[in-house]
Amino acid sequence: MIQLINNLWFKRRDIISDGFDQSLDYISKIIPLKIHKIPTGTRCWTWIIPEKWSVKEAYIEDLHGQRVLDLKEHPLHVISYSLPIDKLVTKQELLKHVYTNPERPDSIPFEFKYYERDWGFCIQDNKLKDFTKDKYKVFIDSKFEKGDLKIGDYTIKGKTDETIVLVAHLCHPAQVNDDLAGVAVLVDIAKEISKRKNHYTYKFLLTPETIGSIAYLSQNESIIPQLKYGIFLEMLGNDNTFVLQRSRQGNTRLDRIARHLMKSQLNNFREGAFRKIVGNDEMVFNGPGVDIPMISISRFPYPEYHTSNDNLDIISEQRLKESKELILEILDIIDKDYIPQRQFKGPIFLSGYGLWVDWRKNKKLNESIEQIMLNLEGDKSVFDIAEELDMEFNDVFDYLNKFLEKGLIEKHYL
Ligand SMILES: [Zn+2]
Repeated sequence: MIQLINNLWFKRRDIISDGFDQSLDYISKIIPLKIHKIPTGTRCWTWIIPEKWSVKEAYIEDLHGQRVLDLKEHPLHVISYSLPIDKLVTKQELLKHVYTNPERPDSIPFEFKYYERDWGFCIQDNKLKDFTKDKYKVFIDSKFEKGDLKIGDYTIKGKTDETIVLVAHLCHPAQVNDDLAGVAVLVDIAKEISKRKNHYTYKFLLTPETIGSIAYLSQNESIIPQLKYGIFLEMLGNDNTFVLQRSRQGNTRLDRIARHLMKSQLNNFREGAFRKIVGNDEMVFNGPGVDIPMISISRFPYPEYHTSNDNLDIISEQRLKESKELILEILDIIDKDYIPQRQFKGPIFLSGYGLWVDWRKNKKLNESIEQIMLNLEGDKSVFDIAEELDMEFNDVFDYLNKFLEKGLIEKHYL
């Protein structure tokens, strides 16, 4: 995961850009991506696909040619989608177009103006004191042209067309935790899922934030009814505890599975309502006219957010790995869960069927046998039972497998 991040992080991955395309190409060599292309100008519901943007050179210099800012030093020095400019301006006018983050004075902020035409630079707040002259030359050689918005899509067919969608955005240049950490975890999960036999179909999408999800869904509306649940992934590599942002519905099976796992496996985690923790593409997937329950898992907040300090120093393979494993376990439960339907009458003759559990080996399961037996009426799933009895899903699942083998229950899909 770190290797992917290392190779892609410093690229200009603006929403429609060569850097974004190159990053998708790079990922295509790891997982087989289908690339959807939606041309500039296409109407996508209430939105219109913007132009492709590129920038060759940008600087601010004084009248003696002394540079106080040069894009060569850091991709964040120019706001994404800045207009071109080549002009002498007063210091006063220049400062209206210069963005800093006073709370992190040594860092360059990440700023973008995708839909508002303006020019601008980003700089360390503590460098503002270097602007001592009255006039400056500002130069941005940027270009707007027709292009294609691109979405990377890896779909792994399962037994059913019902689909779990995992989404990460890839459009933050020179940002690591937001957003490449989510991308790296998503790619690794996709690799793992592709090796499994799955009940559900899984769709992994890499998009430019918001506009990419809108473009994809508006141009592929027929897929919407197949989408069952979604997970948005981002900011998964830093040291903070996990936070679960619930779906808009708030208490779906997916929300409950995520919570149950986090509660049983983590010493500490946080939870919040839809859109109250962090805002991403769940506003599209779980939004008006689509409304697929989409949770978001992240380690937000972190102080380096949207600055040049969001780099490789703040993430670790260990944190990425924990994130990947947690999400894989959520998917594992979703995929394995089913409704056990009783086929027996009276309490089961446990020892006769080899179903008695030695309390010395598994006390909790031993104590829960009767409750499990009483909950097989076809109105609860294996997960529902595990959640209700505060047990590990796999303990209940494995135990009920024995019931299945002996014909004591039937398996009904959810
Ligand atoms: Zn962001």
